[in-house]
Amino acid sequence: MTTEIQNIWIIVRHREGAIEGETLGLIAEAKRIISEHGGKGTVTAVALGSGLESELESLAVYGADKVLYVESASLRRYHGELYAKILSKMAKKHDPSYILMAHGSETADLSPRLAALLETGLVTHAMDFKIDESGKATAIRPVANGYLFEEIHFDCPNPLIISFLPSVLSALEFDMNAEVEITTEPMDESSDDLKTKVVEVMEAPPGALNLEEADIIVSGGRGAGRGESFEIIHELAKVIKGSVGGTRPVIDWQDLPFDRQIGQTGKTVSPGLILTCGISGANEFTAGMETSRFVIAINTDPRARIFRFADLAVIGDLHEILPILKERINDLMEPE
Ligand code: FAD
Repeated sequence: MTTEIQNIWIIVRHREGAIEGETLGLIAEAKRIISEHGGKGTVTAVALGSGLESELESLAVYGADKVLYVESASLRRYHGELYAKILSKMAKKHDPSYILMAHGSETADLSPRLAALLETGLVTHAMDFKIDESGKATAIRPVANGYLFEEIHFDCPNPLIISFLPSVLSALEFDMNAEVEITTEPMDESSDDLKTKVVEVMEAPPGALNLEEADIIVSGGRGAGRGESFEIIHELAKVIKGSVGGTRPVIDWQDLPFDRQIGQTGKTVSPGLILTCGISGANEFTAGMETSRFVIAINTDPRARIFRFADLAVIGDLHEILPILKERINDLMEPE
């Protein structure tokens, strides 16, 4: 007999009033877990924020059965201590079986806070999550820069918290005509009772931007070369005000830190523009960038897999092309 799941929560991530794509993938993941266990549970999307009603209504199409919404102007911007306090109170009241999140910088802050307040178990960076017939939960996640996989068994009371790598999440449309009931929860936490307060939010220079937040990315692969050869990637990024990312060989060479790796075991990015330079387009790389809006790929090999993902394919040597491109852009930007 399989264990029936009662209720899975997914935590809604939003920015500038729009729900982020990973949230939709989380709903699909929750649906999968429920369908493997009797199919009777409900998926509840939980949102803290302001002015999100119409966005939340759209979650029905992707399979959300319910929405719990705490609305307040003070929740417009993420605040770890406040969000964790509110969510833990709500979880104690509604008693979900599992709480699913999409990994990212906010989730890395929120999930351990919430796990501590609920005195429960947490697995971050999950690639897979299974519950066996006796109800035992297991998560799989990459470790050692993705060279090894770890299997984790939970031995703690519900609700368990699992944060998934965004690269394993994909949205599914279930019913275009579905509607969802939005239940408003009271906001009874006061900012005065908090130990921390956000004093100022500073915009990072484009080059230092977290890859997940960058709108322009210049990424380099093995074809860009090591050490000094890789400098051209940084130079171009500077000119077009982009952030720098790379493939695993570049991280292994230590030409970029691990938090600059794009792909299945690195960051998932969705910029408006990404240049891939000297990158073959292995599955593990494209899994982390295929939702980018415009892709320019530069590669000497006309059969490179990356070209299948490219809006603009440039066949040639990046060490000849990028300096020219850099110079042209510089000329265009120079005041008359
Ligand atoms: P290569 O595949 O070697 O490609 C180099 C490309 O550069 C070639 O296509 C070549 O034609 C081109 N080139 C060479 N010289 C030039 C030049 N002068 N100008 C233009 N083009 C040139 N990889 C990731 O990136 N991210 C991950 O998260 C990731 N996770 C992984 C997880 C697992 C479990 C495993 C097994 C692998 C993972 N990998 C990951 C590695 C992945 O499989 C590939 O090996 C890697 O993405 C290849 O990187 P690359 O494209 O830079 O190198």
